[in-house]
Amino acid sequence: LAADRDIAEVLAELGFVAPDLAKTAREELESSGLTRPGKRRLSIAKFPAVAELLHDRFARACSSAVCQAAMRRARPAATLVVVPSTSQCEYCAGSDNRRAILHLAELCRLRNIRRILVVGGSPSLHDELTNTKAAAWELRLVLGTERRTSDKAKADVDWAQLVLIWGGSELDHKVSTLYTSRPEARGKTVVVAKRGISALFTAAAEHLGR
Ligand SMILES: [Zn+2]
Repeated sequence: LAADRDIAEVLAELGFVAPDLAKTAREELESSGLTRPGKRRLSIAKFPAVAELLHDRFARACSSAVCQAAMRRARPAATLVVVPSTSQCEYCAGSDNRRAILHLAELCRLRNIRRILVVGGSPSLHDELTNTKAAAWELRLVLGTERRTSDKAKADVDWAQLVLIWGGSELDHKVSTLYTSRPEARGKTVVVAKRGISALFTAAAEHLGR
């Protein structure tokens, strides 16, 4: 195993691909003594220090406006760098689900929203929601084919701070109208037509961001 690696290659892997950007990053390494002018290889032992330095100086985001805005807020003193590959993005790491959940979690935190009701979806989608949800959220999940009474639906809506009607997933008309017809649901309900968890959370974030 090589104990060192090509500096330009390492920087490119981290997203510093454009020549001027790679040059700026390299200059940061030189001015902090992690390498010196003309040197091509970097010892693996220095990788943690390099990662820390680049993390301090630069905030890396993909082309998504959500990711860029989030990185600006997270590290205002760092220079925002738009990386060519989404996997190099410090916010979403190339995952639409991750971006959507983090973004919604941030908006919910700002608005003190923790209790989220999701109406619709299959048991396997609900498992996925439970496994990927933000730690601060309390989820109440209603299956799209579940028999729910009107009283129970009212209690669900009263409990929830945000109601997501997931029309893009498995959802019987009878179940959805139990919820959408409630006057209490007004103002906190989002009807999502698209499939997929990232679409669900993106629509919720758009609603809260309005
Ligand atoms: Zn991103």
